[in-house]
Amino acid sequence: MLDKELLEEFAELKKRNDAVVLAHYYVEDDAQDLADYVGDSYFLAQKAASIDCKTLVFAGVEFMAESAKLLSPNKRVLMPEPTADCPMAHMLRKETIDEAREQYGDDLAVACYVNSTNQMKAWSDVCVTSANALRIVERLPQKNVLFIPDQHLGHYIQQQVPSKNIILNDGFCPTHEAIDVAEIRLLMQEYPGAAVCVHPECPSWVLDVADYVGSTSGIIERCVTGSESDYIIGTVYGVLHEIERRVAAAGDAGKKHFHFPATTPICPNMRRVTGQKVVACLRDLSGEVFVDQSTAEGARRALTRMLELAV
Ligand code: SF4
Repeated sequence: MLDKELLEEFAELKKRNDAVVLAHYYVEDDAQDLADYVGDSYFLAQKAASIDCKTLVFAGVEFMAESAKLLSPNKRVLMPEPTADCPMAHMLRKETIDEAREQYGDDLAVACYVNSTNQMKAWSDVCVTSANALRIVERLPQKNVLFIPDQHLGHYIQQQVPSKNIILNDGFCPTHEAIDVAEIRLLMQEYPGAAVCVHPECPSWVLDVADYVGSTSGIIERCVTGSESDYIIGTVYGVLHEIERRVAAAGDAGKKHFHFPATTPICPNMRRVTGQKVVACLRDLSGEVFVDQSTAEGARRALTRMLELAV
C-alpha cells in the first residue's frame, strides 16, 4: 500500500510528464492500482498503439515494453523494473525457423507468441497473443504454421484447429509448466462444483481437466461472470487482484471463492514490478526502452499484422 504523500507525488509526476501507466495482471497489486489500464498482452498492445500521451510507463516484462515502443515509436516508454524479463521469450533457435521454411517454402507461416524477443518477431510472419491466437491461426492462408516459442499454447492450437499443420517449438513458461495437475485434482475433490479455469500455457494434462481454457483476461471474465461459487484457477496468482476487484464491483464479494494450486503460481519476473518502482521511474525518468533498429521494422510488421488480423 502506497502512502498518501507518494500518491500525490505520483499524480504530479504523471501530469508533468504527460504519462499513462499500463500494467499487466501479473505484476504486484500496488502497481496494478496505479495503472490507467490493466490488462493482458493483447489489450495492452492495443492501448500502446492507440493512446495519446508523451510517456508510457509499462509495468510488465521486457518484451511487453518493447512491443509498446515498437507500436508507439514517438513516445518515451519507461520500464519500472528494467531487469524484469521473460525466460520463454528467449526459447528459440533460429535453425528451427530456417529448417521449417526450407521444408514447407511459401506454404509456411511463422506465428510468434508476443512473449518473444524483437529478433524472434522480426523472423516471423505474424504475432499472436493467447487471446487472439486461435482466430489468427485460422485466418492465415498457409496450411503449415510453425508456432514459436511456446510449445503448450502451440499444442492447444493444434488441438483446436485441426485443419492446419501446426509445427511446435520446445519453449515453455516455467511458471505455467510448474502447475501441477495433482494439486488441481486435489482442489477438484475438495470443491466438486468448482469451475476449473486454466491458461493454455499450462501443459496439456492440466488443460485436460479444465472446464475453461483461455487467456488471462478470458479467465478473469469467466470467474467474474460465472454462476459457480468456487473457481480453481490455473494461471499466475496476480490475476486474483483484478478478479476480486471486479467481483466486489458486481456485488458478489464473499459469494465467490477462488482457489489456486498449493504451489502458488507466481511469475518471479512480473512480481518484481512494484508500485514504488512505478513512481520511481517517473521521478527519475529511468528504465527508458530503446529498440534495436535492425529488428524494429520486422518486429513492428509482425505486431501490426496481428492487430489487423485479430479484428
Ligand atoms: S508468466 Fe511465464 S510467460 Fe508470463 S512473463 Fe512470467 S515467465 Fe514469461
